[in-house]
Amino acid sequence: MNAQKLHKQLLVKPGRPVVLDKLDPSHTFGWEKTDAVAKRLVENTARIAELQLRLFAENKRALLIILQGMDASGKDGTVRHVMSGLNPASCQVTSFKVPTDEEIRHDYLWRVHHVVPARGEIGVFNRSHYEDVLVVRVRQLVPKEIWKRRYDQINDFEQMLTENGVTILKFFLHIDKAEQRDRLRARLVDPAKNWKITRSDLDVRRQWEAYQRAYDEALSRCSTKWAPWFVVPANKKWFRNLAVSEIVRAKLEELHPQFPKPLFDLTKIRIV
Ligand code: AMP
Ligand code: MG
Repeated sequence: MNAQKLHKQLLVKPGRPVVLDKLDPSHTFGWEKTDAVAKRLVENTARIAELQLRLFAENKRALLIILQGMDASGKDGTVRHVMSGLNPASCQVTSFKVPTDEEIRHDYLWRVHHVVPARGEIGVFNRSHYEDVLVVRVRQLVPKEIWKRRYDQINDFEQMLTENGVTILKFFLHIDKAEQRDRLRARLVDPAKNWKITRSDLDVRRQWEAYQRAYDEALSRCSTKWAPWFVVPANKKWFRNLAVSEIVRAKLEELHPQFPKPLFDLTKIRIV
């Protein structure tokens, strides 16, 4: 397995424009769905859990994982698969919905900042402040003069977080319109999935192109050295899970969290 290569292949290089239409959502970079890949995924989950414990014990730094993508792109599935080994005591998943009355009365980062993971924690955002340059832009929920300033504001906000011990990884789960059609249809026919279908899914699907262009700009302008975006081909769920888990694992290994040294001489202690 060459995690470093995958990292490089999926990374949006800072300053390099992204055109999603040119990126194949079914691409697997030569990987195949083999037993070895399934085994690797299990290993990654276990390794991520081990490193989570160290991060928690070290109690100095945090990891924030941001998931974005169109409806049915697999944000929930990614949380379920890749984060399945995590201890919920030091991991928090936050799903960002239509802002509440109270949230909308504040600036758009207000609801985000106070759920950023604390030292020792891993936080996962299912949608995020990026909605404020995506749905807000496409549906013109605020004037253009307001949202167009947000790209820089988001970069500054994320830089401030990283300078204060929060490592940020951002994943865009890239599916195409045909894959979304199949997944939405499955939600219509499967009683266990009916609850996932909303009217807004259908409106959003109609505005597919506008969303893709909004994503192009968000990914192009907000992939930074301190908070990179990765475009993950997500038509194939196994590849999506593999890619996200490889990158999360590699980042945690790079952080190399350490158990703190005991504060006193343990050899002098007798437990009676
Ligand atoms: P889901 O992810 O399917 O639970 O849907 C959440 C919905 O909330 C999506 O339709 C998002 O576009 C919407 N949403 C999230 N954040 C915002 C925001 N800041 N402004 C407006 N709508 C939002
Ligand atoms: Mg939805």
